[in-house]
Amino acid sequence: MTEQLILDNSFRSLEEKFNYSSTFFEHPDADELINKVAKALNYFPEITFPITLSRHGTRGSKFAIAYVDIHTGIPEINFNINYHCSMNSVFHELGHILQYFTSFDIPYGEQAASVFALARIPDSIIDSNCIPYIGLVPWYRVGDYCRMALDYRKTHRNYIKWLTIQIANDYRDGNGVFPEVDSFNQYILTDDSTIKNKINIQQTLP
Ligand SMILES: [Zn+2]
Repeated sequence: MTEQLILDNSFRSLEEKFNYSSTFFEHPDADELINKVAKALNYFPEITFPITLSRHGTRGSKFAIAYVDIHTGIPEINFNINYHCSMNSVFHELGHILQYFTSFDIPYGEQAASVFALARIPDSIIDSNCIPYIGLVPWYRVGDYCRMALDYRKTHRNYIKWLTIQIANDYRDGNGVFPEVDSFNQYILTDDSTIKNKINIQQTLP
């Protein structure tokens, strides 16, 4: 399934893929971010329109924010100048851009953005062990877990809850290796406090 989604978007030039806000290049990672988003776009063949890249500098806010201008319909990813943004987070943001266009049938919500987007990420470009708003997993299972959740969703409801329980159980039973906190200091963000507690308990084990 994933293979079918990987259409080659690389024929499009950077000029066709992006517009830039006037201050975007003040971001110290600007060139790296362009490369990351350009590479990630190869796995989002639905996005054939230019994305505006911009930056903000609010300390303590998110790594990046994605939205669509309601007047122009132009999608934008706004990167926080204070942080490095992982490829995993870039995929998450592109998931938000898909959500804005309802005909693509991606459910709304932070967790859904992660699951639908990161189900597409190839292992070779994963650079964090965080599934944003879901939790930490070994990096090589990031795509796996999200694809498992989408498979589960074909026949069940509550696929996100199922996924967070699945992850918590894997660690609780000692079947998984509990991942170290990644270099971007991302951490478990979940709306389900029960799961969060389970994961925190596991975290205290040697
Ligand atoms: Zn988000």
